Amino acid sequence: MLDGMTATTHRRLRTEIPGPNSLALHQRRTDAVAAGLTSTLPVYITSAEGGLLTDADGNTLIDLGSGIAVTNVGHAAPAVVDGVREQAGLFTHTCFMVTPYEGYVRVCEELAALTPGDHAKRSVLFNSGAEAVENAVKIARTATGRQAVVVFDHAYHGRTNLTMALTAKSLPYKHGFGPFAPEVYRVAGSYPFRDAEGRTGEQAAAEAIDRVEKQIGADAVAAVVVEPIQGEGGFIEPAPGFLPALSRWCAANGVVFVADEVQTGFCRTGEWFACDHEGVVPDLIATAKGIAGGLPLAAVTGKAELLDSVHAGGLGGTYGGNPVSCAAALGAIETMREGDLAGAAKRIGETAIASLRELAATTGAIGDVRGRGAMIAIEFVKPGTTEPDAAITSRIAAACHAAGVVVLTCGTYGNVVRLLPPLTLPPELLREGLDVLEDAIREETSR
Ligand SMILES: *Cc1c(COP(=O)(O)O)cnc(C)c1O
Repeated sequence: MLDGMTATTHRRLRTEIPGPNSLALHQRRTDAVAAGLTSTLPVYITSAEGGLLTDADGNTLIDLGSGIAVTNVGHAAPAVVDGVREQAGLFTHTCFMVTPYEGYVRVCEELAALTPGDHAKRSVLFNSGAEAVENAVKIARTATGRQAVVVFDHAYHGRTNLTMALTAKSLPYKHGFGPFAPEVYRVAGSYPFRDAEGRTGEQAAAEAIDRVEKQIGADAVAAVVVEPIQGEGGFIEPAPGFLPALSRWCAANGVVFVADEVQTGFCRTGEWFACDHEGVVPDLIATAKGIAGGLPLAAVTGKAELLDSVHAGGLGGTYGGNPVSCAAALGAIETMREGDLAGAAKRIGETAIASLRELAATTGAIGDVRGRGAMIAIEFVKPGTTEPDAAITSRIAAACHAAGVVVLTCGTYGNVVRLLPPLTLPPELLREGLDVLEDAIREETSR
């Protein structure tokens, strides 16, 4: 049934989606895996490459999600796979806190070179995005001797206790999981599509800052934590000028500016980091997802004096900067650099946004098409309004899934279809994926 040695290069449906083998696996899963963990599309994957996922029934699906912005270099990039194989054959773990190894140091050197700003930098490695964000807050607090953390409406920063507090949306992330960590303050950010007053980035920042100064006091604030483009909240790009204004205010007030680039980092938006688009230089930057081609790794990188302010032994973790993950990261970074994947992301964005905007002109259900590089969003509304339409969004996603194209949804109102294709996706598969999505949109909006 399987093609054996022949690499699959096309979307190909052999069964309904999900097929019988996936359904059988799903039954086993239901009896073994916690129900609180759900899957967008329960097809069980057996291999993946070149932007295609092959499932247990021999179907191949086009992946426009990259496992949530992780497989930027593809699902099995040769440099990642080779690095992992070699390192796994040498040793899999020693714990960097016990007996260190070079791979960890090399990843930190790469992070210093690639992240915005040319000041002296240090890094520390972790396992997940949430862990990185949480540690950025720990570092900001020790460095400033202050406690308050400012976050924004629509923010998503993770599922640990502190990062749940930083995250805006209750269901599904926080509901029932309190009490949450104290000293977290939320203010409105900049959401151009939903900004009735059409404020500029500077105006939106000024209002956020005014609220912080009046309600918390600048001298109590350890950190402002911000996603340069909000991810789970709806792929929200703040109006130009918002991030630079916030960053200037932080610098003037001794507040640590923390960029959560867990989703936007590593070439996703057409630059190495989303902060690069406006020349914003964060004091600390949290990275994860795209860093290691699928292996679990995360980092906090930033000003040497901030990271070095923490007492000896204050940062760490058993697995943080695992040698196999570090080898994967070095392979992923090499792939991004040599393949100019930032350039590839830009081209993906240009193609997708032009095509989707053309369609948007013909249907009132698309409120907004936006994005930067290969981080692209379509926000659905009731025609003629800005009222979110979550129902049509789920139907469109479901139609794509049934046709063998993996798309994800997001947004505070659940009304955004988001595209995060691997940056190595061949142009013909991008076109085919967009065709399926656009057909689904036409179909659902003409009902
Ligand atoms: C995914 C994400 C996180 C959390 O990362 P995990 O690896 O799931 O812990 C934090 N911040 C942003 C912006 C994210 O997209």
